[in-house]
Amino acid sequence: MDSNTKSEVIMKNNHQTLWRNGLGTCGSTEAGRLEHAWKEACGVFGIMAPGEDTARLTFFALYALQHRGQESCGIATFLNNNVFLHKDIGLVSQVFNEEILAKLQGDIAVGHTRYSTTGSNNICNAQPILVTYKNLKIVLAHNGNLVNATELRNYLISRGYKFESTTDSEVMAKLIVLELDNKNDLQLAVKEAFKKCKGAYSVVLGTKDSLVAVRDPDGVRPLCIGTTLKGHHVIASESCALDIIGATYKREVAPGEMIFITKEQKLDSDLFVSEIKPHHCIFELIYFSRPDSTFKGLSIYHFRKELGRQLAREAPVNADYVISVPDSGTPAAIGFAEELKLPFSEGLIKNRYVGRTFIQPSQMLRELGIRLKLNPLRDIIAGKKIVVVDDSIVRGNTSRKIVKLLRDSGAKEIHMRISSPPVQWPCFYGIDIDSREQLIAAKTNSAEGIARYIEADTLKYISHEGMIKSTGLSQETFCTACFSGKYPIEIPKELEGAKFRYEKISTKG
Ligand code: AMP
Repeated sequence: MDSNTKSEVIMKNNHQTLWRNGLGTCGSTEAGRLEHAWKEACGVFGIMAPGEDTARLTFFALYALQHRGQESCGIATFLNNNVFLHKDIGLVSQVFNEEILAKLQGDIAVGHTRYSTTGSNNICNAQPILVTYKNLKIVLAHNGNLVNATELRNYLISRGYKFESTTDSEVMAKLIVLELDNKNDLQLAVKEAFKKCKGAYSVVLGTKDSLVAVRDPDGVRPLCIGTTLKGHHVIASESCALDIIGATYKREVAPGEMIFITKEQKLDSDLFVSEIKPHHCIFELIYFSRPDSTFKGLSIYHFRKELGRQLAREAPVNADYVISVPDSGTPAAIGFAEELKLPFSEGLIKNRYVGRTFIQPSQMLRELGIRLKLNPLRDIIAGKKIVVVDDSIVRGNTSRKIVKLLRDSGAKEIHMRISSPPVQWPCFYGIDIDSREQLIAAKTNSAEGIARYIEADTLKYISHEGMIKSTGLSQETFCTACFSGKYPIEIPKELEGAKFRYEKISTKG
C-alpha cells in the first residue's frame, strides 16, 4: 500500500490512500518514535447495515466516542468491491462534512477516534488502517496497546513486510495478511493473528462482506455489540455510541471472543484462546469511559457515584459545600455530598468549547492556564470551607492549579478528595499514563506530601479496597496496575525502558 500526502481521501478500488492534509512523515522505524506511538487509547465503531446510511451513523457514533481520542479520526466504508476511506488529524466535527459523508457510501462502515499523545500527531497513525491481500481489502480500527508489538513488527519486517505508520494497529493488520497467506480463510487468519498478539486490543475489522469484532482475552478495553432500529449489527467501544444512533445494546463482546457478522446479519462467535481471565481496566470506570456508558449492565455514572459515597465514608470532612472538578469528578462529588448530607454545588464552571484545536493559545492565554477551561463561581467559594472532589491525580498539575484558583477566589479551607487511589505506575495497555517520573504519587511519599505540593488544606484518596468494594465485583475482575503496579499481562523488559525509574521529591511544608 502506498501513501500519498495530497488532497482529500477517497479511495476506490485501488491501493492508494489519499489524505486531505499532508501532515507528518511516514514509515520511520526509529525506536524512540515507535515506543511513543504504541501508546493509544482510542474509540472504535463498526456497522453492518445494508440500505442504511452507514457513514452518517458512524459519524454520529464517533461524536459520542470523541472523548476516547481527539488527535485524529476516520471512517472507511465498503460498497460492493469498493472501499472509501477518509481520515485526518482533528476532531470528528473538523474532519467530516456533508460532502465527504456523501462520498462515503457503503453497507459496512468502520470508524475510529485516536487519542492525543504529545509528539505523535502524525497523519500516518490515523485509522482505520487499510491493507490488501490479493483482491481482499481489510480495514482495521484498534483501541488498546500491544505489549509485543516490537517483536511482531520485527518478525513481519523479516518476512518482507513494510510499514507506513508507527502504530501497533498496523502490526495487527499486517499479521492478518501474513496469516491469510498461510490459511487463505479470513476467519482462520484473524484467529491465528490474534493468538500471537499480547496486550490490550478491542478491534473492529471490515471487509467487503464481513464485519469482525475481536477483544483480547483480558478484556482490558471495552467493546460491546448492539442492533440498529432496523435490526442491523453494530459494534462500539462504549454503549454511549449505540445510544446516539438509536441502537439497542445487546451485550459485551466477551474477552477472547471473535465475532463475525455477514451481510445477512448472521453472527458467528468463537473464543480464540482457551484461557480467559478478564482484567477490565478499572481506570475506564473511574475516568476514561463516558458516565452514560454501561459496564456489566450498569451505568458508569452509578459506579462513580458509589466511589464518591465510599470516599465520604473513608475520609469525611465538614464543609459548607462539596464541589467537583467538572465533568469527570462530578458523579463522585454528588455521591460524596449525598453520603455526608452536605450541599453539593457547582463551584467551577467548565467552558465546554475548549477542546483540542490546531490553534496554539497565545503566551498570555497559556499563562492563564486552567482558566481557559475552568472559571470559579466566586460567590459560592469566597469565605467558605470547600470540599473539591476529582476522579484522579496523575501528574498533580491540575489539582495544584485548581487549589490556587479556589484560594484566589477567597476559599477559607480547601479539602481535596480523590475517588481513585494514588496513580503510581505507568499504563502499558492503552491509557496515557506515562513514566513514574511524571506521577506525583510515585515521587511523593504520602498524601500529606502531595497535599503540601498542591497546597490543599487536606488531601485524601479512596483506599484500594474501597475502590474495589464500590464496584461490587472482585479484585481479580480488574486491571489495577496504575494503582498497584501488578500487571496482569506481562510487560517485556524492553518496553519498561525508563518508565519505572523516578526520583523522590521533597515536599516539606
Ligand atoms: P494531572 O494530575 O495534572 O495529570 O491531571 C489529572 C486530571 O486529569 C484529573 O482531573 C483527571 O480527570 C484527568 N486525567 C486523568 N487521567 C488522565 C489521562 N490519562 N489523560 C488526560 N487526563 C487525565
